[in-house]
Amino acid sequence: MQKTLSERDQAVIWHPYTQMQTAPAPVGIVRGEGALLYDEAGNSHLDATSSWWVNIHGHAHPYITEKLAQQAAQLHHCIFAGYTHEPAVQLAEKLLPILPGQQQKLFYSDNGSTAVEVAMKMSIQYWHNKGEKRNRLLAFRNAYHGDTFGAMSVSARSVFTRAFDDYLFTVSFLDLPEPGNIDRLLADIDAVARDTAAFIFEPLIQGAGGMVMYDAALLDRLLQHCRSRNILLIADEIMTGFGRTGTNFAMEQVTTAPDMITLSKGLTGGTIAMGITTCTNDIYNAFLSSDKMKTLFHGHSFTANPLSCAIALASLDLFLRPECRENRERIAARHRQFAIELAYHDDVKNVRTLGTIVAFEVITGEADSYINDLSGFLRSFFAEKRVMLRPLGNTLYILPPYCITDAQLDEVYTSIMDMLAAYGEKWG
Ligand SMILES: *Cc1c(COP(=O)(O)O)cnc(C)c1O
Repeated sequence: MQKTLSERDQAVIWHPYTQMQTAPAPVGIVRGEGALLYDEAGNSHLDATSSWWVNIHGHAHPYITEKLAQQAAQLHHCIFAGYTHEPAVQLAEKLLPILPGQQQKLFYSDNGSTAVEVAMKMSIQYWHNKGEKRNRLLAFRNAYHGDTFGAMSVSARSVFTRAFDDYLFTVSFLDLPEPGNIDRLLADIDAVARDTAAFIFEPLIQGAGGMVMYDAALLDRLLQHCRSRNILLIADEIMTGFGRTGTNFAMEQVTTAPDMITLSKGLTGGTIAMGITTCTNDIYNAFLSSDKMKTLFHGHSFTANPLSCAIALASLDLFLRPECRENRERIAARHRQFAIELAYHDDVKNVRTLGTIVAFEVITGEADSYINDLSGFLRSFFAEKRVMLRPLGNTLYILPPYCITDAQLDEVYTSIMDMLAAYGEKWG
């Protein structure tokens, strides 16, 4: 008998974030349409987390497919040093004016982590080029900025980084701002301000850290304070960008303009990987010189891949259509309603929403093993329902593609209420 995709996978593939010894067999996916993915047995799976937060318009969107095919008939790739092409230039022309702050130059890379690496290198070398010694970076505790070494360094030290902690560079970490700690945080910034090159942060919500939402006005105070101390501001909008938080970009909800923005995920429409780092002319100009040593020596083989750029342009077209905004508003309103219902549940705490994201914690006992039991329970429960929800510890969240229908949203909400009922029977 012919082996399934899932069986063949297990002979040759090593999956991300996966303990291969104990993980259940992966589901073989053959096709996608709208918010649904279809497996090799013909079942549909409802993509309630946008395939790791990247897919905003649905799977295999016909408009994106058409634009991809057009570009594929023209040019697949070319070196991006000394050469350029229409999709890269057009994407920069269209994207820069709609970004928060005065973003004037755009640097291409391959994914979110590399976009973060580029922003960190820009900020450190900015000061180096100006002859000022500023080697420190500032980040939030519990942050997530990616899995490469630089990005890990500015992320939370956790079980994910433990084996590498000795190799990560020193970063100063700040608590998230709250009304009660803001003065202390300003003092924390002052204590390291003199040699701090940049502050990197996920605006309004920490994604991988557990969909932790925090106050825009308090963030603004921190950012203003950093600015007054000449600390560059890197807004990591890799998850929040392209409409996730209610505005096109999360930084639209604060008054302080970032010096640099990192983008990926939603930028790609969920089709081909790409990362972008944008900056102001102040940053860019610090690299202009007759001295070669002031060059930004960074690049990747697939920098500004024309296919990725064409797709990002197509995704941007769809994003700017009024229907997309209407869909986001519809999802946000439905989420807020669901949150009210959810908040009554005994086994649930910290129900919160921001734009098209709703998140909450399932109340567990203290013991770690309990949480392990819980995440196993959650995963198998939702796998059985064929609703793709992937808990972060005991945090559950919905972060759907904007094309998700009301009926599909209801299916996700119902699966969560059913899970809570089953959970109550099992442990309540
Ligand atoms: C996902 C994510 C990254 C890393 O992006 P990858 O493409 O997975 O490397 C960085 N920052 C934030 C805020 C993210 O959510």
